[in-house]
Amino acid sequence: MYYSNGNYEAFARPVKPEGVDKKSAYLAGSGLASLAAACFLVRDGQMKGEHIHILEELSLPGGACDGIKDAQKGFIIRGGREMEDHFECLWDLFRSIPSLEVENASVLDEFYWLNKKDPNYSLMRVTENRGQDAHTDNKFALSDKAAMEIMQLFFTKDKDLYDKKINDVFTEEFFKSNFWLYWRTMFAFEDWHSALEMKLYIQRFIHHIGGLPDLSALKFTKYNQYESLILPMVKYLEAQGVQFQYDTKVTNVIFDITPEKKAARKIMMIHNGREECIDLLDDDLVFVTNGSCTENSSLGDDDHAPVFNDTPGGCWELWKNIAAQDLSFGNPDKFCSETDKTTWESATVTTLDDRIPAYIRKVCKRDPFSGKVVTGGIVTCKDSSWLMSYTLNRQPHFKEQPKDQLVVWVYGLFTDVPGDYVKKPMRECTGREITEEWLYHLGVPVEEIPDMAANSARCIPCMMPYITAFFMPRTAGDRPKVVPDGCVNFAFIGQFSDTVRDTVFTTEYSVRTAMEAVYTLLDVDRGVPEVYGSCYDIRTLLDATSKMLDGKKAIEMKVPWIMKLVEKKALRKISGTVIEELLKEYNVI
Ligand SMILES: Cc1cc2nc3c(=O)[nH]c(=O)nc-3n(C[C@H](O)[C@H](O)[C@H](O)COP(=O)(O)OP(=O)(O)OC[C@H]3O[C@@H](n4cnc5c(N)ncnc54)[C@H](O)[C@@H]3O)c2cc1C
Repeated sequence: MYYSNGNYEAFARPVKPEGVDKKSAYLAGSGLASLAAACFLVRDGQMKGEHIHILEELSLPGGACDGIKDAQKGFIIRGGREMEDHFECLWDLFRSIPSLEVENASVLDEFYWLNKKDPNYSLMRVTENRGQDAHTDNKFALSDKAAMEIMQLFFTKDKDLYDKKINDVFTEEFFKSNFWLYWRTMFAFEDWHSALEMKLYIQRFIHHIGGLPDLSALKFTKYNQYESLILPMVKYLEAQGVQFQYDTKVTNVIFDITPEKKAARKIMMIHNGREECIDLLDDDLVFVTNGSCTENSSLGDDDHAPVFNDTPGGCWELWKNIAAQDLSFGNPDKFCSETDKTTWESATVTTLDDRIPAYIRKVCKRDPFSGKVVTGGIVTCKDSSWLMSYTLNRQPHFKEQPKDQLVVWVYGLFTDVPGDYVKKPMRECTGREITEEWLYHLGVPVEEIPDMAANSARCIPCMMPYITAFFMPRTAGDRPKVVPDGCVNFAFIGQFSDTVRDTVFTTEYSVRTAMEAVYTLLDVDRGVPEVYGSCYDIRTLLDATSKMLDGKKAIEMKVPWIMKLVEKKALRKISGTVIEELLKEYNVI
């Protein structure tokens, strides 16, 4: 497997890998990573579809990438996916998956046309005082010291950030900035999460710094991602003859390990309640999604809070059983043993009449029923003790959604502190109480809240004990490599496998690890697109610096080394050069 960039490799089709007709593949899990791996096996590996077996614990595919209409409860979205143009592996995949919405178009075509015609941006990113504009006005409001701390982190080597937390590398001035407010709410970082992950995010999305405050950096699918991304892949794979086996919990993969090689020899599983085993040869490839951010997620309803279930679910047990066999298979405990640090809760509110939409309209400053962008990404209520944010994507968000209803996604980063209206921690609240707290921050008159929450909306809360498990501080080896050293027929894929430079909690990460796994195990002779190299592009760096400083010039910063630069009259030396031209163009000097 090697990385590439540019059009030559992007448009090339690899030759059929040698011996592929003799090979089979078994994939544990049917989340985005497994489905993507199956698509790459078919498209680039040219493996026969009927040789590919997807083994899923649940009775439907998609894993974390959800959106479902439950017959009893109604519409449910545990999350919504913020996406961008430089999800290189993901778009490489979806250019080949037929759209279910637009005839003769790919999922990429559909997404591209939609986001061209109706670009995403927010007209009120932050509120305070119950639905009033907090007037962050696209400003980052970073002090010179805080800006320097970001720059310092950007240049820190990965290994110097092993096991470090965000609050080890930033000070109070940074945590008070709008930058941190935008950042933590849009990516769900907490102070105690990994400083390394934070750095990787800054580097990975440096080209989007200017588009963070109004969320114009983001792109969204037409419907929820189950309908817009997962279903087209499932249809594509079914048409290729890929075998889906649900209600199948993989409990272990048994290895034969010698100093020369590590070979997966047995898959142990429970299928429809019965223990079963698949014997494996070197030509049987195994792909395991180790860990899941939605493991043990549980739903409540209008009258019940969700149950907090932090028992080790199927995915952690599977990874632990595999990890016990060799050090190179990672350290799951690092990610799944402190649920108080990895949890938050979301809720799906469905509005039932025209009372709540009137308040939504005031915040989003658009018609929520227009079919176009509504809030344009999340709206954060900065004075909410739960640090509540909410979003309305283009409506309808479900194909089946009635035209006069809106589906709203609400989430709180802090689930263990009392709310401002309901005075209870979010995790103890019923759906109705969460709606009440949301309506309070939306600006609904207090006397109208109880009736509106009871009669004008339905709310399904969702507790996710492991939602930010991948953000826990880590060191080398905690995440196993996609193909651990010596493995001949086995790969880890998804958010807890390790690849360079890319960032977890993204759909791209699942697809990238899937592509790298397939290309390695089948020796596919085509480059995997490297992570977009914007952090090596001097133009992007200069532009991001200027934007981060809210337009202030870098030389105006009161930091010692910049003062020195000016004192030493270094600027005179670049006078008349391309460097000066660049610095001026990007407002640095
Ligand atoms: C609330 C939320 C918000 C998000 N926001 C964004 C965003 O803004 N942008 C973005 O790009 N991404 C976002 N994501 C992340 C993205 O959706 C996930 O990273 C991605 O879908 C993970 O896919 P996966 O296949 O790697 O893992 P999963 O989807 O977790 O798949 C794992 C699968 O394995 C199955 N499984 C587990 N254990 C076993 C077992 N023992 N045997 C058999 N099957 C098993 C599970 O049931 C599941 O189907 C968000 C996710 C959530 C939940």
